[in-house]
Parts: sequence; C-alpha cells; structure tokens
Amino acid sequence: MRRTETALIRLLTIIVIRLLRVMRDQVALVERLRSVGMRATPQRLAIASELFGNTTHPTVESIHIAISAAMPALSLKTVYEAVREFEKLGEVRLFDPGTGSLRVDPHVETDHQHLVCNRCGSVRDVNMASAEQLVTRHDHNFKIESVDIILRGLCDSCSSTANNKKRNTNA
Ligand SMILES: [Zn+2]
Ligand SMILES: [Zn+2]
Repeated sequence: MRRTETALIRLLTIIVIRLLRVMRDQVALVERLRSVGMRATPQRLAIASELFGNTTHPTVESIHIAISAAMPALSLKTVYEAVREFEKLGEVRLFDPGTGSLRVDPHVETDHQHLVCNRCGSVRDVNMASAEQLVTRHDHNFKIESVDIILRGLCDSCSSTANNKKRNTNA
C-alpha cells in the first residue's frame, strides 16, 4: 500500500513538473512572438512550438502534418506564411539541401553547416567555424555575406543498413 502511494505521488509530481514546463514554454513562446512584433495567434503558437528547439530541420509539409491532427482547419499555406514571417524576423533560416523540399532551421544562434543524407534526406548540424576563413582565403574582390556548405553522404542508420545489405549479398 505504502509503496503504491509513494509511486503514485512520484508519478503525480512528474506530471505536475511536466505541465509546469509546458506552461513555461508556452509563456516563453508568446513572449518571443510578441518581442518580434508578432501577434501570438493559436496557429502561430502551434507552429512555433513545433519549430523552436526542433533539430530535425523539418519541411513545411511535415510541420503542417504534425500540427493538423490538433488543428485540422490549419492550411499548408498558413504554415508557409508563418514560416516566411519567422524567416523575415530572423527567427528561422530556410534552405534547400537538394532533397526536394525546403527545410526550416530554427537554429540561428550560431553559425553552422549541414550534413545531408543522400538516402533518407535527414539533415544534421555540423560546426565549421573555419568555413568562412577557408572561403575568405579564396576571396577575389568579393564580399562574403553568408556561407552555406552542405556535406553529402550517408547518415549513421543508412550507412549501417547499406553495410548490412552488402554483407547479405556477399554471404
Ligand atoms: Zn539516412
Ligand atoms: Zn541547421
């Protein structure tokens, strides 16, 4: 009995802490939108909470799919417009890694480049502090404003399945 009660109290504490964290995140999001002069509409809040802190470089379509379960009336166009607004305000970076869809990157605080998987299209951040120096060395009367380097290859899980296939065909 005692043990069940303790377990229950522990579980409730975890739930309360999680709820508080969600509420705090929501308040932070509202403040963030307001600070850049955007009205915190439920749609923008949903898009922002799906986006900020997301390290997968999602496509606009995947953001739309993720939210549309909770907000069936939300159109893909609205998601596009919101993402473009976030971009204009410097809150996200949009780029096309050649996988067929535009990717949204909320990681704008530090300069970084991208590793793109040729097979599954996953995108990962990679820090390349020396990238700009590298380009500047080859500078010919050209003022560099931004550097976008994409390193293509196979991600961990794709390269391990590729290896497995190779092993199977060899056997
Ligand atoms: Zn992959
Ligand atoms: Zn990134």
